[in-house]
Amino acid sequence: MREPVTAYVGLGANLGDAAGTLKEAIRQLGLVEGVSLASQSSLYRSAPVDSSGPDYINAVVQLQSQLTAPELLVCLHRIEQAAGRERPYRNAPRTLDLDILLYGDGHISSAVLTIPHPRMWQRAFVLLPLAEIAPQYTTQARLSHVLAQGVVKLR
Ligand code: ADP
Ligand code: MG
Repeated sequence: MREPVTAYVGLGANLGDAAGTLKEAIRQLGLVEGVSLASQSSLYRSAPVDSSGPDYINAVVQLQSQLTAPELLVCLHRIEQAAGRERPYRNAPRTLDLDILLYGDGHISSAVLTIPHPRMWQRAFVLLPLAEIAPQYTTQARLSHVLAQGVVKLR
């Protein structure tokens, strides 16, 4: 049996019942074989960045994963598909987006996977929920870069 790795996954949605979709996706993540849900942030509302359409609902979860990062990515894509995710064009509005933010202390740069997620430190909708469940990653310097972005904690 592989040793579990602490991983962080960012969730976002801005079509349909976005909050309901996120809650269901978090439940589905906990059901994946070899994955257990360790903690989850509050839900946040954010204006689209490099995207369009309604505001996004965002959250970050901490997982304990016995999968490899590419195996986890396959599971995330399956959950996105089940939520009706379509990719008509880059940065299109989406029913559900699941991104691997961090995977232990792993660094991956492949055709399908970049970890740590390359844009995570620029995004308030990632950093603020991450700060709630993993404050060790959110330095004042990182936060100061994103505080101007409009992100509201929902509950
Ligand atoms: P976005 O970049 O807006 O999240 P998509 O969700 O459509 O766009 O993802 C596009 C591709 O990004 C995926 O098919 C996946 O292979 C790749 N990708 C690279 N790194 C990651 C990561 N850390 N987490 C999730 N997907 C990633
Ligand atoms: Mg994605």
